[in-house]
Amino acid sequence: MKDGWEVVIGLEIHAQLSTETKIFCGCSTHVGDEPNANTCPVCLGLPGALPVLNRRAVELGARAALSLGLRINETSIFSRKNYFYPDLPKGYQISQYDRPFSERGVLEIMTATRDEGGHAREWRPLTVRVTRLHLEEDAGKNVHEGLPETERYSYVDLNRAGTPLAEIVTEPDFRTSWEAYDYVNHVRKALQWVGASDADMEKGNLRCEANVSVRRVGDERFGTKVELKNLNSVRFMQRAIEFEIERQVNTLEAGGRLTQETRLWDDRAGETRVMRSKEEAHDYRYFPEPDLPPLTVSAEFIEGVRRSMPELPDARHRRFMEEYGLTFEDASTLTRELTLADFYERAAKAAANPRGAANWLKGELLRELDAAGVGADASPVSPEELGALVRAIDGGKISGKQGKEVLVEMFSTGKGAADVIEERGLAQVSDAGEIERIIGDVLAANQQQVEHYRAGKEGLFGFFVGQVMKASKGKANPKVVNELLKAKLSE
Ligand SMILES: [Zn+2]
Repeated sequence: MKDGWEVVIGLEIHAQLSTETKIFCGCSTHVGDEPNANTCPVCLGLPGALPVLNRRAVELGARAALSLGLRINETSIFSRKNYFYPDLPKGYQISQYDRPFSERGVLEIMTATRDEGGHAREWRPLTVRVTRLHLEEDAGKNVHEGLPETERYSYVDLNRAGTPLAEIVTEPDFRTSWEAYDYVNHVRKALQWVGASDADMEKGNLRCEANVSVRRVGDERFGTKVELKNLNSVRFMQRAIEFEIERQVNTLEAGGRLTQETRLWDDRAGETRVMRSKEEAHDYRYFPEPDLPPLTVSAEFIEGVRRSMPELPDARHRRFMEEYGLTFEDASTLTRELTLADFYERAAKAAANPRGAANWLKGELLRELDAAGVGADASPVSPEELGALVRAIDGGKISGKQGKEVLVEMFSTGKGAADVIEERGLAQVSDAGEIERIIGDVLAANQQQVEHYRAGKEGLFGFFVGQVMKASKGKANPKVVNELLKAKLSE
């Protein structure tokens, strides 16, 4: 950002709610079926077909709203948003307008200042005002297929038409592209965490638009706003905003003027391009949907949804630091996903050593899981078995180095810690009687060295340790050997 300039960013997210069926009919939301296989008179927009609201969509919308700190309105109204497009057979989209499902959210997220390479340097809290989250239906898709150019054909696939969406809009509260980046990641994680949406940008079930304007520092008024679309990943969005900041500042500094318009991000070219200017913008002529009654949700319903939700990621992150003494980074890693956080808490309990369990999980097991592309919920090593491994190490049964080998084998075979240790004959001998017997043999066989040691040649201590370890074939617990040897030699 050039000196003397400030950027103002607001964000709009469309998240597909994870229902089995569409928002106003019973058609499947399954992706990948034959084009137009999942359609009926309602989502085809045939005359006379009546929409019926899907209760599950309301529940998931409530989860999404609560996870983002929004207040749910007891009454909200569905409206028709009128526009023509081939993938919208009704000629309007059922959405919400002046009485949305939820509004007035205050969300505290963590954001980081970053270096040139995009690596987080320092984390700080950022308060974001979430204007609203409303419910609406998705449109279908216009599909263009066939090569070469002369063989091309297009068709409309309405399988996606009527899939439930939550549209989440913020106030213009972001002042850097990285703040926007951290917010979108926060929302994605929250929605996945509470099971409201898969929130996968690559699959298109989370889509994002950014409103970007620049102004001179100290200026109260907003500059001319440009809407950025076609942001297929959070990183693309961040790059598109950076490009747009520079383009707008350069235009204004050169004495030029900006037009209010929609621009598309082209990642290959690394630039934004005009899609349409404001003159072409739609007037949607919203009016209340006559085929749907107002949506009313009771306080009990909201409370029921709240109670059924897991502890949210940030609260859990804080608790991991306070309750288990984890560092900020470790708590971040272990709250990456809900299943991983659950896994960790069970392992910490089984290990009776929260820090130890954290180290083994984030260091060793997570590496295996990531390499295998498996989530914690499908780990071949159960949390209880990871706990058993940590206990075996803490109790001196095996060394930490051996522990790593044991874990790798547990992961590849699915066997328990005790079985692998037993089968590999790794268990260290910690039994004092057994070690004392070996020490007795070693000292008896090295009488001369014992005399030298007792005469003051203390450097020989390492020699005795070595002999005992050798006689035990490396299995004697070194700590016990040291203690017992010292006692025996000073007799
Ligand atoms: Zn349908």
